[in-house]
Amino acid sequence: MNANSEVVALNARVQQFISQPRKVLIDGRWVPAKSGESFDVFNPATGQRIARAAACTKPDVDAAVAAARKAFDQGPWPRMSPSERGRIIWKIGDLIEDNLEELAQLESLDNGKPIAVARAADVPLAADLFRYMAGWATKIEGNTIPLSVPYTPGAEYHAYTRREPIGVVAQIIPWNFPLLMAAWKLGPALATGCTIVLKVAEETPLSGLRLAELCQEAGLPDGVLNVLTGFGEPCGAPLAAHGQVDKVAFTGSTEVGKLIVKAAANDLKKVTLELGGKSPNIILEDADLELAIPGAANAIFFNQGQCCSAGSRLFVHEKHYDRVVEGITEFAKEIRIGPGLDVRTQMGPLVSQTQLERVSGYLRSGAEEGARALCGGQQVPGTGYFVEPTVLVNTSNDMKVYREEIFGPVVTASPFKSVDDDLLGRANDTLYGLAAGIYTRDLGKAHRLAARLRAGTVWINCYNIFDAALPFGGYKQSGWGREMGHDALNNYLETKAVCAGL
Ligand code: NAP
Ligand code: MG
Repeated sequence: MNANSEVVALNARVQQFISQPRKVLIDGRWVPAKSGESFDVFNPATGQRIARAAACTKPDVDAAVAAARKAFDQGPWPRMSPSERGRIIWKIGDLIEDNLEELAQLESLDNGKPIAVARAADVPLAADLFRYMAGWATKIEGNTIPLSVPYTPGAEYHAYTRREPIGVVAQIIPWNFPLLMAAWKLGPALATGCTIVLKVAEETPLSGLRLAELCQEAGLPDGVLNVLTGFGEPCGAPLAAHGQVDKVAFTGSTEVGKLIVKAAANDLKKVTLELGGKSPNIILEDADLELAIPGAANAIFFNQGQCCSAGSRLFVHEKHYDRVVEGITEFAKEIRIGPGLDVRTQMGPLVSQTQLERVSGYLRSGAEEGARALCGGQQVPGTGYFVEPTVLVNTSNDMKVYREEIFGPVVTASPFKSVDDDLLGRANDTLYGLAAGIYTRDLGKAHRLAARLRAGTVWINCYNIFDAALPFGGYKQSGWGREMGHDALNNYLETKAVCAGL
């Protein structure tokens, strides 16, 4: 870690924000958990407590859902003109931008990510998402439909569809991009006129709470957005199962995703899921290695590897295999590891002790099963939840490190001979289907391969490029539905057919 750090001094607003126990937002009011309980929020770079957050349980969930229900059934939000709704959503984007530094500091402090990344990516992307979705508020349209109705010859009808908000939405998000995941969820739900109960991740509640304040400041009516902090079982589970919720949108582990589906099955709530991945990143024989080597390194090491889309299974044409793994290993050794709030940090800590143990467990299992670490492979000694960036070779497709989502800075690298002989089958041989990467100079080959990869996103000669307009989501066990783009609106709309005899 760095000897002379250049740590950002927390601004006064951030200090004030973390100094008092954080309340939660229900029906436009900031209130403590009904139980009076709260929990510690940690700085993952030090393991020290930085704040306290309310430990919400079922009674808080009930109150939040009741508020969202009332706001949907009786409140102004779903009835407001689309233009007015769009203006408020746009204002949320403006306020995020106005408070960029504060939000970036909160995010880096709470999650551990490098402040430079929070400033350049997380916060601006969140602002942009709201602005993109603000534009959709005025463009949600049905169709007029000419009918034939063979059993009523001569009769005339006027038929059309209306696209209506689905109702009260429960949204449950993870800790890897706390602000951005909140934005991905809130933007389309607000644009369509839904009302929301958002449960932020217990590891990283701070930026979501600050965002809720900004939503109020932007003019969102009371009860439209309710934000809860708390743990998965006591807070997330009753929210997902609640009888007054019309839809659940979840991002997190595939394991919990399956629990969400079960919880929603009772009353057949609509569900969308954005889950895990074990994404193949493929370097073909004709790739530009100057681009592919840092590209493949960033594909796995970005955000400490805590990305559902991480390029965690690297496949390299055998001709370049040695050079590429050596290049990525050199890259990994140069990465500056440190606290997120140090402006020079390129890789921060993992989010929690639990994730540290989980990733360390995978590193041990890899070693036991015969994988070799060309670099890394260990926890960084000292305080905080730091793990070294790790390149594993000699892996095989029956190893846990090769098959399971590690969610840390750990890549497996394997050689292949040709796309048809031994690459395509291996690339698609996973329970997941979130993303894939291809590096090649032959764009015809790239687009043909893109069509054959079973993944929701394929990046060609780039990786981890996200945009509010580009839909994102998974095939297979990586999820149901899409976030972002106009696809995301479908998650929050019902279609009503209206047929009038003339
Ligand atoms: P997780 O348990 O799936 O957490 C995601 C969210 O679901 C959190 O808000 C969590 O609350 C909540 N939750 C947990 N159990 C729940 C339940 N029974 N009902 C309703 N909500 C529930 O993920 P994690 O434990 O934080 O991380 C474990 C693994 O999940 C990671 O190692 C990674 O593989 C994967 N993951 C994937 C993504 C992604 O973007 N797809 C993001 C994060 C993690 P708490 O915060 O209180 O647990
Ligand atoms: Mg958790």
